[in-house]
Amino acid sequence: MAQDETQLVRGGSFMFHPAGSLPQATPEENSEDALAIAEAARDFVNGEILPRDEEIDHLDLELTRELLAKAGDLGILGIEVPEAYGGLDLDKKTALLVLEEMAKQASFSTSYTAHTSIGTMPIVYFGNHEQKAKYLPKLASGEWCAAYALTEAGSGSDALGAKATAVLQDGHWVLNGTKAWITNAGFADVFVIFAKINGSHLSAFIVEKTDPGISTGAEEKKLGIKGSSTRTVILENCRIPEDRLLGGKGKGARIALGILTVGRFKLGASSVGAGKRVLEYTLKYAAERTQFGKPLNAFGLIQQKLANMAMRIFVGEAMGFRTIGYLDEALALTSWESETGGADKMKAIDEYAMEASMSKVWGSEALFATADDAVQVFGGAGFSAEYPPEKIYRDCRINRIFEGTNEINRLLIAQTFLKRCGGAEGLPLAAGAAAALDLPQDGLLRTVALSKARALKVIALAQAEHGPKILDNQEAAARISNLLLEIYAMEAAVVRAQKMKASDHRWAGLAMDLATVYAQEAWNRIQGEARMLAAELASDSVLDTLVADLLAMQAPAPVALSILRQSIAAALVDQGRYPISAV
Ligand SMILES: Cc1cc2nc3c(=O)[nH]c(=O)nc-3n(C[C@H](O)[C@H](O)[C@H](O)COP(=O)(O)OP(=O)(O)OC[C@H]3O[C@@H](n4cnc5c(N)ncnc54)[C@H](O)[C@@H]3O)c2cc1C
Repeated sequence: MAQDETQLVRGGSFMFHPAGSLPQATPEENSEDALAIAEAARDFVNGEILPRDEEIDHLDLELTRELLAKAGDLGILGIEVPEAYGGLDLDKKTALLVLEEMAKQASFSTSYTAHTSIGTMPIVYFGNHEQKAKYLPKLASGEWCAAYALTEAGSGSDALGAKATAVLQDGHWVLNGTKAWITNAGFADVFVIFAKINGSHLSAFIVEKTDPGISTGAEEKKLGIKGSSTRTVILENCRIPEDRLLGGKGKGARIALGILTVGRFKLGASSVGAGKRVLEYTLKYAAERTQFGKPLNAFGLIQQKLANMAMRIFVGEAMGFRTIGYLDEALALTSWESETGGADKMKAIDEYAMEASMSKVWGSEALFATADDAVQVFGGAGFSAEYPPEKIYRDCRINRIFEGTNEINRLLIAQTFLKRCGGAEGLPLAAGAAAALDLPQDGLLRTVALSKARALKVIALAQAEHGPKILDNQEAAARISNLLLEIYAMEAAVVRAQKMKASDHRWAGLAMDLATVYAQEAWNRIQGEARMLAAELASDSVLDTLVADLLAMQAPAPVALSILRQSIAAALVDQGRYPISAV
């Protein structure tokens, strides 16, 4: 445990520490209490949610509310709510484990997350005592449900460009405007709504569904997560008491962006839970369906897909716990007892905005690849609505769009990293590039170190030649982000596997195989990204020299991945599921 801020890992600094040297939380080290809560969540999902999958997906909002209330009875709506306001005030790791379970039903998970995360957290972190006392106990118990209304038809990615207005009249705020795509709008009792005071100071307001002047539009007809409510929220001279302003005048951007960071961590984690369910039914189908006289799981190219699905779960878990571990360490140094408790906690979370975006982008794309693999393993049946992959393929598509699109998050990752590398206190980009060449003996850590060295060499050149202007070239910025998130994920997976090996974990061999496959494949992508980024930065002889330098750098020896994947697939087929379980 860190004793003070100086001992915390700084956001974005992972690139500059020797491979594998940073402390890292893993799913194998959870407390008994966290595991007990996760198990209760799993029983709840298996017993109450999954059997009602179809009803939920037919947009039975009464049922969703009923189930949210049951989740409230179990305490899992208040995991992150302070005890003084009816919650459990547990660490983010516990929240992540619960979310993994919830993610097995995408629509319910969306309602749950919109309520507990983006709906409730603005009041937790920015509410004053009276606001917290009024709303949080009801939100934690499930008596009331929450929604978060930032987006408008004209401002999605450009979220701070909202047009909704708020004017103070006779001790009341009068709100006007229309919010678009608001999750839980069909049944929420409390809305955190963003509007500009006098048209210029973006601010957040707590609006109750019974307030005069608020109404909702029709349900959107969506591609996926059809069981979650999504509507416009219409404000027509909506009058609310003056004390419903949240966090102060002009604090809207601070609240909106801070809360999105929390949402992004969680979206990364929920991709893991959904992936486990997909793998389970895909393994079952691949065992039952025969072609050419053999079960599908006997074919190398099917084994490759099954192994890749497990690899994405393993890496996603490693990445999620790595990030949440940093967060819990930082949050442990703050206290709700302090007057500035909420602001201190938000500041601690902000430090890891880049890691949150990396988890969101990586997790959402990994789950989409897994859903795609599932469709392919099912063949024609995968294209039929009668079989499960069709639904996850549609349901998980949204993850690349909300909580900031993956384009916006990629731009944020590159922007944050380069900003952190600037100034006197900046991360040592050029020096880091040289230091990263201090190569460890261990094969997998060596791959991580070589990846860092290559990426830093090119990013340092980008910074030196172009400064922040490199971000104007969005493709180059996205390549920088890809390098960073691949390395972050690779290192997380390698460290986790090594820890499992060191502790003689039952599945250490499988973990090493999964980490090795990922490291090899990520290495190939990193090499490609580094070369293509170089081409964005330089031309002619400068480019030739740079590419020659990159090529001259050592590379890890190639590994025969088919053997590893066959062995991974054999373990999966034997167990019938992803066997390395935190719960
Ligand atoms: C099912 C669903 C639920 C939602 N729930 C909520 C909710 O509860 N609360 C809420 O406030 N919002 C919610 N949203 C809104 C969601 O956050 C936005 O849809 C998202 O931020 C993208 O905004 P947009 O749809 O306006 O797309 P646009 O901003 O118009 O983007 C369109 C495309 O252009 C790209 N693009 C935009 N700007 C740039 C740029 N500067 N550089 C490069 N590319 C760019 C985007 O990445 C995207 O690919 C929800 C949306 C959906 C679909």
